Amino acid sequence: MEKGDVLVADANTGWLMKDAARVVRGVRDLDVFIEQPCDTYEECLSIRRRTDHPFVLDESIYNIPELIRAVNDQAMDVINIKISKLGGITKAREVRDICVAMGIAMTIEDTWGGDIITAAISHLAHSTPSELLFTSTDFNSYVTVSTAEGAPKRVNGRMAASHEPGLGIRPRMDVLGAALFKI
Ligand SMILES: [Mg+2]
Repeated sequence: MEKGDVLVADANTGWLMKDAARVVRGVRDLDVFIEQPCDTYEECLSIRRRTDHPFVLDESIYNIPELIRAVNDQAMDVINIKISKLGGITKAREVRDICVAMGIAMTIEDTWGGDIITAAISHLAHSTPSELLFTSTDFNSYVTVSTAEGAPKRVNGRMAASHEPGLGIRPRMDVLGAALFKI
């Protein structure tokens, strides 16, 4: 780790409560965020209430009612907003705006993606107040195939949204191939 780095332990729902309880106790003296330790919301809330580590919820929040419940329970300090998980950019933006109003910090990303998803992430992240933008992910650095021109590129740990219209990208139709269906 370098100075200024932030450490997040994301279990992706993988721990049983008995094990998560031991982990948060074991890292009590470390400055680490705990993300979605267990499968269900109730299990995560139980662990949240036994630790003073900052807490991130991800797989427990798929919609606004689940967000409101978690806000009311003070169940997290940070939420992981994945665009696809929430049902697209408009839904993700609604959740983002509520989080801004409630002072909940945000990881803004998606479940996976390439250039097009990364462009959408960059716009949602760029239009979020910086003090509440916890982190964001440039998924196009995770893949080897480029699906669009003009997509954001990470430089020194940062990426910027395009100033071009729309997502600010030009899809590479030769890479994407023919449409599977049209609407
Ligand atoms: Mg996560």
